[in-house]
Amino acid sequence: MLRGMATPIIASSSSPALTFDLVARCSTTRARASILTLPHGPVQLPMFMPVATQASLKGLTPEQLEETGCRLCLNNTYHLGLKPGQEVLAAIGGAHKLQGWNHNILTDSGGFQMVSLLKLANITEEGVRFLSPHDGTPMLLTPEHSISLQNTIGSDIMMQLDDVLVTTSPDTARMREAMERSVRWLDRCVAAHKNPATQNLFCIIQGGLDLDMRRECCRAMVARDTPGIAIGGLSGGEAKDDYCRVVAACTALLPELKPRYVMGIGYPEDLVVSVALGADMFDCVWPTRTARFGNAVTRRGVLNLRNARYAGDFGPVEDGCGCACCRGRDEEGGMGVTRAFVHHNTAKETVAAHLLTMHNVWYQLELMRQVREAIVEDRFPAFLRRFFADLYPDKEKYPTWAVDALRGVSVDLYTDDI
Ligand SMILES: [Zn+2]
Repeated sequence: MLRGMATPIIASSSSPALTFDLVARCSTTRARASILTLPHGPVQLPMFMPVATQASLKGLTPEQLEETGCRLCLNNTYHLGLKPGQEVLAAIGGAHKLQGWNHNILTDSGGFQMVSLLKLANITEEGVRFLSPHDGTPMLLTPEHSISLQNTIGSDIMMQLDDVLVTTSPDTARMREAMERSVRWLDRCVAAHKNPATQNLFCIIQGGLDLDMRRECCRAMVARDTPGIAIGGLSGGEAKDDYCRVVAACTALLPELKPRYVMGIGYPEDLVVSVALGADMFDCVWPTRTARFGNAVTRRGVLNLRNARYAGDFGPVEDGCGCACCRGRDEEGGMGVTRAFVHHNTAKETVAAHLLTMHNVWYQLELMRQVREAIVEDRFPAFLRRFFADLYPDKEKYPTWAVDALRGVSVDLYTDDI
């Protein structure tokens, strides 16, 4: 087992607040394993980042989140900017102090939240105009204001304000405007950024499902040399094969020695396929949100523990899982929780949501640890075959988009070579 052992570094790059060390390249796919060192310590890529919207992960204490192995979580600038607000954040010394989290934090720009949460958001060259959800007063989020908020939050990775449009929009003129505006807004964000020595600003590639527009955006963004690069606007209802085409088109043009973050992605199949296409970082509210509905994410698929068949099931949420919820009572910190117990409490007591959140976050992080180990040991194609075989006992049910996307990086899911 290579886990925990020092792995030789193939190549490195540094910017003032970040070091990227490439430790392995998959010899078949575009997957890579690397170490991203941020102001609050190193993280191992590829990785999944849980979303702690209001500076807390719903259902977990900071200690419990730490126990899952998470060293980089996401906070939402929009929510923190409204409450507790910039003054309180400045007074306490930022979001790490506010939530008692000594590891890394990534913040979004607030723009996406605004456009998706507020019906009356209106985008102009100046910024995003909206009515305050608290008192209805007109407000304006500009690139400068977003960066000022994120500087006060003190996140290790800040995201640029971008002009986001759903990828399925048929309005190509508007799509081009959004893509080009996102590049102009990046320039304004870079100019407004007060702490480049301690906080990293990532650009976001836009351009919808138009591969030429995506490529044009990649070239413009890469020229601006931000310490990391995100692919944005996806997971908005586009077909999965369109999603894969966009990710593959972008990663083909991105510099090797920078982290690549695909925003808003979290289903296990999407994660492993996106890694094969060359992406490193992902975030999504789905694993924690679905936990609150009684759903456990497992290697055999999602189990709805509200179902009556679990009332007498005294096994752990997932056999062999190392999370605190599933670990046996004879193991340190293990709770030995049974499916029957979760079933009994689900939808009645918050304890069920806490336990499943703990399990689901662990599942996602452990999946990425296993992906990383497979890349380092150069057996990632076999890992992918095992992963899909566990998830879909019937090969006929493999999702076509995943089969095709993986074929595009020379992995055949149907061979028996596991
Ligand atoms: Zn578990």
